[in-house]
Formats: sequence, structure tokens, C-alpha cells
Amino acid sequence: MTPEEYGRSFDARIEELIGDAAERIEPLAARCESAGLLPSEVIDLDSLDRIDPLTKDALLALQQDDPPFGGMLDPEADVRRYFQSPGPLYEPELNRPDPWRWSSALTAAGFGPGDVVLNAFGYHLSPAGAMFEEGARAVGAIVVPAGVGNMDLQIQACQDLGVNAFIGLPSYLKALLEKASNTPLGIKKAFVTAEPLPPSLRTWLEERIPVVRQGYGTAEAGNLGYECERGEGFHVPSDALVEVCALDTGLPLWDGSEGQVVVTLFEPDYPLVRFGTGDLSRFMTEPCPCGRVTPRLAGWLGRVGDAIKVRGMFLHPLQAARALADLPGLAAFRFVIDRFEHKDRLTCAVVPEGGVDPAELAGKVAERIRSVLRFRAEVEPVDHLDEGPVIEDRRTWD
Ligand SMILES: [Zn+2]
Repeated sequence: MTPEEYGRSFDARIEELIGDAAERIEPLAARCESAGLLPSEVIDLDSLDRIDPLTKDALLALQQDDPPFGGMLDPEADVRRYFQSPGPLYEPELNRPDPWRWSSALTAAGFGPGDVVLNAFGYHLSPAGAMFEEGARAVGAIVVPAGVGNMDLQIQACQDLGVNAFIGLPSYLKALLEKASNTPLGIKKAFVTAEPLPPSLRTWLEERIPVVRQGYGTAEAGNLGYECERGEGFHVPSDALVEVCALDTGLPLWDGSEGQVVVTLFEPDYPLVRFGTGDLSRFMTEPCPCGRVTPRLAGWLGRVGDAIKVRGMFLHPLQAARALADLPGLAAFRFVIDRFEHKDRLTCAVVPEGGVDPAELAGKVAERIRSVLRFRAEVEPVDHLDEGPVIEDRRTWD
């Protein structure tokens, strides 16, 4: 399918979704109205595309006005888990097999029955750990819920339990392999996501692991794309509508132009419709030689807004500023993100007020960042900071 044929293949599902969900979900009906449409008039891709993308900030505002889910979740819905992402933004997980739809991505990476998977995504509050566990279980694999940290114990578990597959950040996989340098881990396939995989890191990993595949998705929407054996771009899933939309008009760009990734999930109890991920990408217009029918995204090309992904988690300038705003003794601060040995490094430069002990202040700032933002950061006292952004991103990806 061409990108546009893929988009138009959802016409019947769009009509069914909106007709059903807008009766129960008031914010969805309101968005149709803002577009000058009755819900019954949203019957295909063209009418759906008249609805403005819902930004992450707008979803956050909905949730804050009407906690916890902004009226987006049917009160009768069968829910299994609630998650909290940075913002804080809350996500419900509906009670059904593979609710985040990662099984197609894991199957393409060669995961299947009999595999023993080390799942090195976090299980604390945010969805990634449980999300990928559901996907791995859906393809019949056994999951070791490793989370992040305790690498020595994870290495031992790999050896004792016969772990042969990995899910997590690529930088974490590299660190794990380095830590285990003298002991072969037996990992034969790896599915990595949530941060870019630069060519140099990919080569490093592929010298040690036969199959390394990337996925692309978000905490709100789950699987939005995955690599096949060609490793050239991300096939969009057939069970969610992924569009690339112009930043000004919100209209889809099927011709390979760059725009925002906008997703519609066909889930009437939690209808995430035209959700703007804030990620930039573009469609590849040529078909993939692998024979899969869905088109491919060219990968992650940046962020629409200011929220910045660090170590697979979003850091919002507003949230970062708020976290430190009322800390006594702190005159000014700035977060700096760079890359060190293929890992994101977050530092916070701080200017102490007169008479304040820099080391003591640094300790307090580090603790506040850990507890409020859930990031570890190195804190560097400095004498002076020029005017500038709250977060300075110095990373390069080559
Ligand atoms: Zn392919």
C-alpha cells in the first residue's frame, strides 16, 4: 500500500469508531463540533482529518480540568492498569490481550514462543515495562521483569534462566553487555526503542547480537512502527492509523514531507483520536522489499514542541522550571543534555545565592530532580549563567 492507500483503508473503522464513541465521550463530541461536524458526519479519512490534532498539552489540560482522564475514558471501561507519565499525564490500560499492540513489532524482530526475554524497561508508574511485557507475553515468550538497574543480578538471571532475548533502551543493552564482558549472555535478539539508535551504536550492538531491531511508539499510544528484517524505516501497524500531518494545517502529508506523527486508536472505551505525538517524521513512499503491506516512517526526526526526550523519558521545560522554582538558595539553573559513550547525560548547572554553600545546594537540587522529575542528574555549581533556555540540548546523532 502507498501511505495514502494505507490511510484510506481505515474508512470503515473510522465511521464505526466515531459513531460509537462520541455518544459516550464528551471531549470527542466537542472536538467534532469544533471542526464543524456532527459525529455522524465523521465517516472516512477526509472527514476525520478535519478534526484538529490533540496535542499532549491539550490532553494534559483536559486531565487537569477533569481528573484523572479528562472525560476521555468510558466510566464503564474494563481497565487493568493506570500509569503515570511525566507531566504528570495518566494513561489507562484496557483489559485485553496485548493492549499496546507491540506483538506485531516483536514478531518482526523474531520473538516468539519459547523465548526468554529480559524486559529492561521500568515498571515504576510509567507504562513501558508493563507495555512490553504484554507484547512479549502475547507472542508466547517468557518475561523476566528486569526493569532498570541491578545489572549484576540481571546478568546472573540471564545466565541462570537462559535469557535469549532483550527489550529495552539500546544504551542500556550496551551497558549490560559491557558489564558482562567476561561472561557470554546468550542474548540472540534485541528489540530496542525509546531513544535514537545511532549507526555507530547499532554497529557495536550487531557485532555482539545477531538480530537488533528498533520500534517506535509512545506512552499514550503504544506501537506506532517497527523495523522489519531490512532495517530501513518503521512499518506502521495495521491496527492503528498513523498519519504524518502538517504543523500549520494539521492535514496529512502522504507524499513523504516531514510533519507531526498523529495517531488514531480504534478503541471506543478510550478513543485517542488524532492524537499529536509531538514527534516529527515522514513517510517513505517506496514499498519495502520485505513484502509487508503497510508503509514505513523514516524514523524519528525531532520534536514539535519543547519537550525533550532524555534516556527514553520526556523532560518538559515547564515542569523542569516548576520543579526547582521555589528551592531556597538557588539563584539560577539550567539543564544541559549531551551524549557520553552513547548514553544521554543530564546535568543541571546551578548558581547559588550569596552565602549559600554550593555543595549543599547541589545535593538539594539533585534530590529535588530525582523526586519531582524522576531523573538522575549531575549538578554543577557555577558562578553565572547567561540568559537561555531552561533545557539546552547539545546532543548530536552521528
Ligand atoms: Zn519491510
